[in-house]
Amino acid sequence: KAQNARQRLPVVPQGIERDDFLKALDELREQLGAEHVEVNNKPLRDGWYMEHPNTHDMMTILDEEELVASAVVFPGSTQEVQQVVRWANKHLIPIFPISMGRNLGYGGAAPRVRGSVTVDLGRRMNAILDINAEDYTCLVEPGVSYYALYEALKARGLDEHMWIDTPDLGGGSVIGNAVDRGVGYTPYGDHWACHAGLEVVLPSGEVIRTGMGALPGNNSWQLFPYGFGPFSDGIFSQSNFGIVTQMGMTLMPNPGGYEAFMYTFPNDEDLGPLMDIIRPLRISNIFENVAQVRHVTQGLASRGLPRSTYYTSPGPIPSSILRAAAASTPVGDHAWAYYGMAYGPAHIRAHKLALIDSEFRRVPGARKIDPSTLPPDEYFWSRERVARGVPDIQELAWVNWAPNGAHIAFSPVSPIRGADAARLFELGKRRVEAAGFDFMPAFVVGLREMHLIVEIVFDRGDVGSKKAALACLRDLVDEAAAMGYGEYRTHLVLMDQIAGTYGWNDGALMKFNEKLKDALDPNGILAPGRCGIWPKRYRGRGWEM
Ligand code: ADP
Repeated sequence: KAQNARQRLPVVPQGIERDDFLKALDELREQLGAEHVEVNNKPLRDGWYMEHPNTHDMMTILDEEELVASAVVFPGSTQEVQQVVRWANKHLIPIFPISMGRNLGYGGAAPRVRGSVTVDLGRRMNAILDINAEDYTCLVEPGVSYYALYEALKARGLDEHMWIDTPDLGGGSVIGNAVDRGVGYTPYGDHWACHAGLEVVLPSGEVIRTGMGALPGNNSWQLFPYGFGPFSDGIFSQSNFGIVTQMGMTLMPNPGGYEAFMYTFPNDEDLGPLMDIIRPLRISNIFENVAQVRHVTQGLASRGLPRSTYYTSPGPIPSSILRAAAASTPVGDHAWAYYGMAYGPAHIRAHKLALIDSEFRRVPGARKIDPSTLPPDEYFWSRERVARGVPDIQELAWVNWAPNGAHIAFSPVSPIRGADAARLFELGKRRVEAAGFDFMPAFVVGLREMHLIVEIVFDRGDVGSKKAALACLRDLVDEAAAMGYGEYRTHLVLMDQIAGTYGWNDGALMKFNEKLKDALDPNGILAPGRCGIWPKRYRGRGWEM
C-alpha cells in the first residue's frame, strides 16, 4: 500500500488490537498530558548524533522498520514513570526506557521488541538535582548529558574544582551510559563503578532507593553505595529489571595538573610486547586512566574523510596504501598509537612519564610525539579533552569512512597479555577483512582487563553491507567465545547470541536472571529481551535472534 509521505501507519505491539492500543494511548494522554504522548506515525528520519530520533536506531543494521517504536511517551517525574509502568501492566504493552537514546552502535533509541512504547525519560526529566563541591558528588536525572553536567559545573564556577568523566561522545546521558556500563577516560572512567545510589521504578510500579538512599533522612546516599543488605544496584545495569529515575555519581577532584602524551610503534607485531609492557604499568596505576592503543587504520578514519579519499576499490585497503596515506599524520608510517594522560602537578607527572618513556622505548622504533607540534584540530587534542573530562564529539568523525556511515562493534574482554592481544588481533583481522571491511582495532585497557574494540563501519543505505557486517559480527562472537572471550556490552541484535555465550553450567546465570525477571516483572512489560533476558510471556516463542 502506498504510504502518505507525511504519515506512516504506526506499528502496534504484538498481541493487542490497533483500536485497543490507540484507546490505551488516550488513557495515557489523560494522565501525562496529550503533548507528552506521541504516536510514531511520521516517516522515520535518521537525523544525526545531536538531533537523533527516539523512535528507532539511526544506525540500524536491520531494516529500520524492524526495531521500531509504536509510540514515544515523555514522563515528567518519577510519579509519572510509575503511572506509565502501571498503564503498561494494565494493557500488557511492552515499554522500553531510554535516557536520551544516543546509544550509537548499540541500538540507538530502538527498542528490542518491535512496537514497544519508548519511555523517553530524558526530555522532561533532565534536572541536576545536586552538585556537592565538598563531597565531590552529584545526583542527576536521566536527561542530564555529559555536556549539561560539564556546563553546570562551569556555571557554578566549579569546573576548576572538580571534573566529570565523559565517554568518547559527550552528548549521551550520564545515567544511560552508566547503566549500559559505558566507560570514559579519566581515572573515574568506569562509570558504573563510580556511581553511588539509584532511584529505580520497578516493573510493578513501586519505587526504591538503593544503598544509603533507603534510610529516611540520610545525608550519605552519594557517599556509600552499599548501604545495608544485598547490593542491589548490579541487577539494574545491562538488564530489564527497573527504570532508573535518579543516580548519584562521584566526581573527580582536579588533580592539580595534567599532561597528555602520545607514542607510536612501528609494526602490527609490536602489539604483543606492548601489551605486556602496559599491564604492570596500568595495574600499578602509573597509567592512571584507561589506556588506549589504536591502530593506524582507526587513526586515519578519525580524520573524518571517507575511505574513497584513499582507495576506491572494494575490499580492505591494502596496507601499503594505508601506510602511505597515514604518512602525513602524527602516526606516520607506524602501526599503533598510544594515547595517554598523566595527572597531578609537574613533579609528580615527571616521575611517571619518565618511567613510561623508558618502558615504551623497549619496543624497537617506538616514537614519542611532541604535542606542541600538533595543530589544534588534530585528533590527539580530542583525546586530550576527553581524558580531562571535557565532553567532545570529534570521535564521530570515523563514521564518515563509509557512505551513509554507521557502526557496530565487537568488543571482547581479555587479560592484558601479549598472547591474548595477538590472538584477538588475528581473529579480528581475518574475519573483518574476509567480510570486505577495513579492520580498525583499538585496545582499551580498563585496569586488569582489556577490551578489544573492533568497529565495523558499514553503509546503512546498502542492504548487502548491513548483512555482511552483521554476519561478520556473529562469526566473531562465536569464534571468540570458543576461545574463551566474551563481550562486555553489545548491540540489541546481538544480545541473545552473546547472552548465550555466557552459558556455563547449562545456562545457570540466565536461569537466575529469568527467575528475577519473572518475580519482578510477571507481565513481562519492561524492555523484553534486553540483554537476552526474556520474560515468561515471550520465552520460547521465537523472539530471540
Ligand atoms: P545515552 O543517553 O547515553 O545515549 P541511552 O538512553 O540510549 O543512552 O541508554 C542506553 C540503554 O540503557 C538504553 O537502550 C536502555 O536500554 C538503557 N537505559 C537507559 N536509561 C535507562 C534508565 N534510566 N533506566 C533503565 N534503563 C535505561
